[in-house]
Amino acid sequence: MFLSKKVANEKIIFQLDYLLQKKIFNAIILPSSTRDIENDLKKLISHNNFKILFLKQVHSDKIIIPEKKMEEVGDGIITSKVNLLIGVKGADCYPLLLVDVKRDIFGAIHCGWRGVASGIVEKAIEIMVGEFKSIPQNIYAMVGIGICEACYEVGDELLEIFGKKFVLKEIFTEVENKYHLNLRKAINIKLKEMKIPEKNIQNLPLCTKCSYRFLPSHRRNKTNKRIFSFIGKLNK
Ligand SMILES: [Zn+2]
Repeated sequence: MFLSKKVANEKIIFQLDYLLQKKIFNAIILPSSTRDIENDLKKLISHNNFKILFLKQVHSDKIIIPEKKMEEVGDGIITSKVNLLIGVKGADCYPLLLVDVKRDIFGAIHCGWRGVASGIVEKAIEIMVGEFKSIPQNIYAMVGIGICEACYEVGDELLEIFGKKFVLKEIFTEVENKYHLNLRKAINIKLKEMKIPEKNIQNLPLCTKCSYRFLPSHRRNKTNKRIFSFIGKLNK
């Protein structure tokens, strides 16, 4: 797995170029507004026969499989369709991008606290294994840019909610009588529980709120901008 970073015109673009296979498209993450995302992608990709798909995200654990049924609302997409870039958007929530490198199965999962607490990470891997016949050893995961633990003070009520599926002291820290949630770690814990090998998990250790001012952070200023993360396979 190879990670590169380009910074141009206040846009930071990360590419996850797994196995360096030319036929398979990189994951791309770029901060942008919904309005110009399609143009931004077309400028980045020298390929004009692709579609993009992202959902109206509602902080659920609902995952869409476009082969079975196309729906507009949900928080995850898993597909083996070619020339379809599936994506998630966020401004503090984490994007989780998944790929089965042997079978070319792709996943784009929106991981906010509600989705993670209700098991969207486990559900995504279950679908790849159960419906698409992936084996965990072939699945690679990238946990993209989201809010860091230091910036993510949360209410006490989250402890009870997360307590059903997590060991609380592994993901919460107490700072001056307030709790902070390490959502990145929570996602990583569930990936490992689902038998994804640690070497297959890549993290982009940047925070939307405190790493760069131009990364969109809802906590910072309730911005309308989002980070878009895409993955998929393009046949040239
Ligand atoms: Zn931060």
